[in-house]
Amino acid sequence: MSEAPAPAVSDLFDKVVNLCKRRGFVFPSAEIYGGFRSTYDYGPVGVLLLRNVKDAWWRSMVQLRHDIVGLDAAILSPPAVWEASGHLKNFTDPLVDCKVCRERFRLDRLDDPEVCPNCGSKHSFTEARQFNLMFKTYAGPVEGAGAEVYLRPETAQGMFTNFKNVLETSRKRPPFGIAQIGKSFRNEITTGNFVFRTREFEQMEMEYFVPPDESPRWYEYWCAERLAWYHDLGIPEHMLRLRAHDEDELSHYSIGTSDVEFLFPWGWDELEGIANRTDYDLTQHASHSGERLEYFDQAAGVRYVPHVIEPAAGATRTAMAFLMAAYDEEAVAREGQGQGEVRTVLRFHHRIAPYKVAVLPLSKKPELSAPANDVLAQLQPHYMCDYDETQAIGRRYRRQDELGTPFCVTIDFDTLDDQAVTVRDRDTMAQDRVPMAGLLDHLRARLDA
Ligand code: ATP
Repeated sequence: MSEAPAPAVSDLFDKVVNLCKRRGFVFPSAEIYGGFRSTYDYGPVGVLLLRNVKDAWWRSMVQLRHDIVGLDAAILSPPAVWEASGHLKNFTDPLVDCKVCRERFRLDRLDDPEVCPNCGSKHSFTEARQFNLMFKTYAGPVEGAGAEVYLRPETAQGMFTNFKNVLETSRKRPPFGIAQIGKSFRNEITTGNFVFRTREFEQMEMEYFVPPDESPRWYEYWCAERLAWYHDLGIPEHMLRLRAHDEDELSHYSIGTSDVEFLFPWGWDELEGIANRTDYDLTQHASHSGERLEYFDQAAGVRYVPHVIEPAAGATRTAMAFLMAAYDEEAVAREGQGQGEVRTVLRFHHRIAPYKVAVLPLSKKPELSAPANDVLAQLQPHYMCDYDETQAIGRRYRRQDELGTPFCVTIDFDTLDDQAVTVRDRDTMAQDRVPMAGLLDHLRARLDA
């Protein structure tokens, strides 16, 4: 399928995309074959960033709670699941073709639905038709009817189809949740804005099952919780907002949805949707599968189908928001050689920063590599560390600033006499002399605060 041209983007957007390529955060996939444009690969630093985003979500959703359990469901699933969920019928976007240049567009994303953004022609679009976004493939050695399976377009259905299994094995009862992180696939009509919209991406979703009359309260609760999560991890308040959907925006299963939106360089756009899905999913799967998907409250003697509140976030999209929010440039007022230069620094929250510490021996000489390796061995069991022994120290600091590493530990020739190292702070560039024996405690006090 042809792609729409890239939308106009601001300076910040280009700077972040360039930095991602230059420093090993994100690469266009299959780049040596000219790129694929609808997927991206996460490089040595990006994979750490993405993992930290997912770990921070899992920590707040599963580890720090007693009412939510995890799940890792299959990506491939049979048509019956998607028939019941409504995706085969409803998971569509309106597609139009320009009759002049033959580009294809998603109608509801066009700035002006009368004008082709590629060739400028007016009234050149075909009638909109509903395009299903699910990827279909075949299971087993036979192609054709009966062998079709779908790549999941969201992780949520795995939580609904396992509702009974989890209820019976986990000793949880409503209100309780099932959380999952994993890949989802959507054959988006147009991809773009870097990793914002891709055809393969990662989601972090949680289905929270509640007694029906409690659903409005839990909906409000999860809207507030999820907004606070981004804020607590360093996204400034002025770049975040919660926006309630208008009636005509609601999905087929929802009676209320709010999006957590981030101020991207092109304007406000969605990071996460929090939806009140009522009993739609469990009722649909119960009637299609013939299983009873209910909860029997023994104390009250009532049987009911729980309602579901779902916070559904994108891990890859959120990683991009953290990058955008962290990006900063400032004139360097200290650090010898670098004075007067502009430095680029990613001011990530410590939990999100790919590396927590960089270990930098001042020279490659063996008398410094030995203590540097001791420092590395002391820190590695606790923190993800980078190690770099080439180039002038000022340039190495600049590199770590661009990776967002909160602390650099420099081992110099004085270390051999005083058994101390220099700890340099990413944000203030302040340097402290710290005894090697107390280094881990020094860093812990700052990184785990
Ligand atoms: P949109 O309206 O932008 O197509 P959506 O409202 O259909 O997205 P949801 O189904 O609510 O998205 O998915 C939950 C989250 O998953 C989104 O908020 C987003 O962070 C992420 N997500 C959805 N589609 C994509 C995609 N194509 N690429 C990257 N992330 C995505």
